[in-house]
Amino acid sequence: MVDHLTKNVRSWNMSRIRSRHTKPEVIVRSLLHRSGYRFKINDSKLPGRPDIVLPKYKTVIFVHGCFWHRHKNCPKATTPSTNKEYWTKKFRNNVSRDNEVKKELEKLKWRIIIIWECEVINDPLSVLNEIVCKLEKNVSKGYSIDLDRNKILKLAEKRSKYLINREKQKS
Ligand SMILES: [Zn+2]
Repeated sequence: MVDHLTKNVRSWNMSRIRSRHTKPEVIVRSLLHRSGYRFKINDSKLPGRPDIVLPKYKTVIFVHGCFWHRHKNCPKATTPSTNKEYWTKKFRNNVSRDNEVKKELEKLKWRIIIIWECEVINDPLSVLNEIVCKLEKNVSKGYSIDLDRNKILKLAEKRSKYLINREKQKS
């Protein structure tokens, strides 16, 4: 019985760790950092513990996994064919939680930028550009990233693994 509980807690912790340093999240973080932006990550003082918080811009960024957060019309937002009822309920809860978090943050006057996993993986530099445009409004901020998509993905893969391992050792 004890072992059973421990196992549940452990797997819960693991899933939280994994969802904290996903590859798309790491990509967005490192591209923003390279562009000179400074931010906090996973600020637990804010509703929904946003992935990236830019206090200077009063902006939070969520890097959503397409599967868990149900990216509309995205091929990654599939529903497993077994335990359909379980999954449908789980997804519904995730989406309604996202909506609640959004409302809470808006009440606190935060601007929210939602980035989808597939967008980041397909074209990380466009996503960066989109974020910068939103942050800087009409001002075009000259930034240059001397990396191509493959390099970005490779670096993020390494960094994501490293961070997840480091968290595992801490817990
Ligand atoms: Zn998607």
